[in-house]
Amino acid sequence: MTVNTGTTEDEDPYWFEKLFYRDIESWFSSDIACCDKCYDDFLENWPHAYAADKQAFQRSSIDMHSFYSGSRLQKYYTEEQFNKFVRELRCPICVAELSENIWPYTLPFDVVDDFEYIIEEIANLSNTTSFLLLNNKFAKQVHDAIIDLSNETVPMVIENYLYRARAKSSLYSHELHEFDFPPKNIVKEGRYNHAGIPALYVGSDPDTCFYELRETPCIIAEVKVTKYIKILDLTNTYEHYPNHSDLLNTLVYSALMSARQDDTGWYKPRYIFTRFISDCAKSAGFDAIQYPSTRKNGENYNIVLLNQDLSLDVSSKLIKLLDCDDGKMEEI
Ligand SMILES: [Zn+2]
Repeated sequence: MTVNTGTTEDEDPYWFEKLFYRDIESWFSSDIACCDKCYDDFLENWPHAYAADKQAFQRSSIDMHSFYSGSRLQKYYTEEQFNKFVRELRCPICVAELSENIWPYTLPFDVVDDFEYIIEEIANLSNTTSFLLLNNKFAKQVHDAIIDLSNETVPMVIENYLYRARAKSSLYSHELHEFDFPPKNIVKEGRYNHAGIPALYVGSDPDTCFYELRETPCIIAEVKVTKYIKILDLTNTYEHYPNHSDLLNTLVYSALMSARQDDTGWYKPRYIFTRFISDCAKSAGFDAIQYPSTRKNGENYNIVLLNQDLSLDVSSKLIKLLDCDDGKMEEI
């Protein structure tokens, strides 16, 4: 732990730094993940941590006053002394002064070794020679893991209803085919599809669809998929894929899979790795990928159907339509 107090034993006979970290550890069972200064950097690298596990990361935030009041430090120090000594500690991540808030939080899996270096390598490859991703050792490991997962995944019928939104302005009718795979001549690059290769994105609930569509007034189709589908489920990896859950969770929590994409231009480097995963999944025989939503907090998820033989016309029943405007939803 970096510290530069210059404080003498007479001024601080109890060793403030040691007691401070002892209380962090015993209260939160975690190290500090970030402070106010490095909060944005943490979430840029681990965007899914913001909403995952019932907002465990957000709930871990604590300000220094509350920490003092709830900790055993108040037995040894007045709040004035606490404020003085705490300013002499440094954030273990960015070395800034600890002044306002800290986030004692540990990602709920073992991060792949040297992941900071790996993510940089992938970013460089994505920006220069993206078709050569498979030459990268980590990308090859992901490819092999997905082939492995395909061997242990059986096709299943999705029990829940799924939801597919379309902007009102782009709809010609309310027939089911309007909500189906889009025609390839209008398909832009998406998180899990190349330009010109149709994929069908559906959500676990109407709200997720609405937020994925950037809150555009829309019609949402509630559908029941009746065919068996082989799904690469990246939302519940401990249960489905215990042998690869650390690798998959590192991907899902990181910017490689869960970065938000806000621009609408052609240059979308953040979609490179997800499109790579999609190619691996298709080549391994998966029909679809289930993944957490980056737009809506909570347990919501999206499914992207990659296999165009599963068009809604042949695989699904339309249950009902919802008219969604300003976040209000009404059945049509
Ligand atoms: Zn920091």
